[in-house]
Amino acid sequence: MSDNKKVVIIGSGLGGLSCGVILAKNGYQVTVLEKGTQVGGCLQCFSRRGAKFETGMHFVGSAAKGQTLDRWLNYLEVSKDITLSPLDTSCYERVLLKGQEYKFPNSHERFVEQFSEYFPKEKDNLEKYFSLVENIFRASMTNSLRQIGEEDAIVKYRLQSVNDVLDSLFEDKLLKNVLLGNSPLYAAEKDKTPFSMHAYIMGFYNASAFRIVGGSDKIAFSLKSTIEKYGGKVLTNARVSEIVCKEFKATGVMVNDTDFYQADYVISDVHPEITLSLIKSNLIRPAFRHRISSLPQTTGVFSVYVQFKENTVPYMNSNFYGYHKDTVWDCEKYTEDSWPENYLYMHFCSSEKQQYAASGVILAYMRYSEVLKWEGTTLGRRGEDYEEFKKQKAEKLLSEVENDFPGLKNSVKYYYTSTPLTYVDYTGTKNGSMYGIAKDVRLGAACRVLHRLRIPNVFQAGQNINAHGILGVIVGSLVTCSEFLTAQTIYQQIEEAN
Ligand SMILES: Cc1cc2nc3c(=O)[nH]c(=O)nc-3n(C[C@H](O)[C@H](O)[C@H](O)COP(=O)(O)OP(=O)(O)OC[C@H]3O[C@@H](n4cnc5c(N)ncnc54)[C@H](O)[C@@H]3O)c2cc1C
Repeated sequence: MSDNKKVVIIGSGLGGLSCGVILAKNGYQVTVLEKGTQVGGCLQCFSRRGAKFETGMHFVGSAAKGQTLDRWLNYLEVSKDITLSPLDTSCYERVLLKGQEYKFPNSHERFVEQFSEYFPKEKDNLEKYFSLVENIFRASMTNSLRQIGEEDAIVKYRLQSVNDVLDSLFEDKLLKNVLLGNSPLYAAEKDKTPFSMHAYIMGFYNASAFRIVGGSDKIAFSLKSTIEKYGGKVLTNARVSEIVCKEFKATGVMVNDTDFYQADYVISDVHPEITLSLIKSNLIRPAFRHRISSLPQTTGVFSVYVQFKENTVPYMNSNFYGYHKDTVWDCEKYTEDSWPENYLYMHFCSSEKQQYAASGVILAYMRYSEVLKWEGTTLGRRGEDYEEFKKQKAEKLLSEVENDFPGLKNSVKYYYTSTPLTYVDYTGTKNGSMYGIAKDVRLGAACRVLHRLRIPNVFQAGQNINAHGILGVIVGSLVTCSEFLTAQTIYQQIEEAN
């Protein structure tokens, strides 16, 4: 039992807030400390001239009644505070490759049927592929909320690259590319990204896909108010500057270099390299620090947030992935001339049945090296040359999208941009990486980050622990909180909440 123990959580991203709800519901005295002015990390939205934009989470999956995420959102008491709007079930994803558009419909049957029309010779293989995808998604004991683990079924696919497995399943090269059309959702890299990651994302969104009406920050606000309802606190402008340790354990944290917060337990929801930099204690060995700082990161992103002229752009109820080359691979290895080799284009959902889009976002990979020279500068004060760099990139990206959506540029009223540096400032992710530490089959277990550290009362949470994305992070919180409550207790509470 909690005995009202004090838990300090560093960072109010989804990982920090969901751990906060689970522990506050179970009697722990929770304090979430957030360095920014807003809660939510990648759940944050911003508004400019009356238009609202999501910065990280644009759509969620498996949230139809009774599905995995729905059950979690009920347990976390979020469902009552948000409205989900389903993406078009006949094409939640649209992939444009080699001048042709391919649609991803929801459900196993419809997906296999649609893809068998595109690739009739691969019909049997498509059936095998999709069953495998679903098995892997279901087999993860935590993803499917089962208590009896079937994890073994997926271990093999954590160690095989997505391209190797697709090569073993299909002959048709174009089909293999199309299936990876939405791989910006996990920043896939050839010979590195595990098939299990592909299967997890495919299974998750194929079950059902939704936008969050009014924006992803509603999830953060809901989690914050639930923590407060159970007696916890969520403080902003509270940057943790040190995790203070005495002898073999942590005693609390320093905030803004001045205030000490005593804690029985500390959970860090920030990038593991930052967590380690907050711990001066030699309980953390140099070799471990070195291992963590050597891990590869997923690529960064350049975003153009577009506010449209009123009633000019019909609301697009799908995500759109454009490729201007014959393959989905190596888009992150662009040159200055070839950038952007692909993009992801989405509309923001402000009401359930909207006719026109008020705003949208276009995302394209951007390596940190492109913005390195402005590292250390602060938001809004990076200089004229940075503004000029962003303008040039935005115009180039908008022109690329215009090729596929003629008239788009004419419909733009205003636009705003962000680079990997923006993410460094707003979330503290290393090198502005989109999804944190990259999974790489060649490194095997070495690229996995555990929720435990050598300091017994300090734990980690967030996208680097289990997986990124709404379900990946929440499942990571289950893993972290099971140290306090046991997984069985949490599963039982989820059952009771549903
Ligand atoms: C462009 C983009 C698009 C995405 N789209 C989707 C999507 O459509 N669907 C989906 O499911 N997922 C999506 N994701 C992924 C998802 O948003 C993230 O995986 C998830 O929100 C990460 O949550 P987190 O808790 O790990 O941390 P973060 O959101 O990174 O939050 C960490 C928090 O810690 C705070 N912090 C850092 N250092 C300190 C400190 N020293 N003291 C106090 N606070 C500190 C930061 O300010 C931040 O608020 C997207 C991500 C990106 C970047």
